[in-house]
Amino acid sequence: MSRKDRIAKAATRTAAQARETAARERGRSKRTTSVSGVSPHRHCSVCWAPIPLNAEPPVCSDEECEATNEKRMASRKRLTIMLYLFPAIAILLAIVSSL
Ligand SMILES: [Zn+2]
Repeated sequence: MSRKDRIAKAATRTAAQARETAARERGRSKRTTSVSGVSPHRHCSVCWAPIPLNAEPPVCSDEECEATNEKRMASRKRLTIMLYLFPAIAILLAIVSSL
């Protein structure tokens, strides 16, 4: 068998495998929604209790979870501000020192 033949055969085999895997994946995802009967939902970002899909912020009705989520959001916001503020200060200092 020539090198070209081998490569061509390997390519077709890989394509067939990919198709097969895709078909299997499709079948599996269909099965999980139709057989298990679990409707799409999301989880509380603090305690992972199931909550409605459109719950915003993504926390359950527990007060403690709401407080924890709020704290997390605040610290994330602070981090984002610092992420922009520090480079801005660095650039500002560079400009000032070059004057
Ligand atoms: Zn919760």
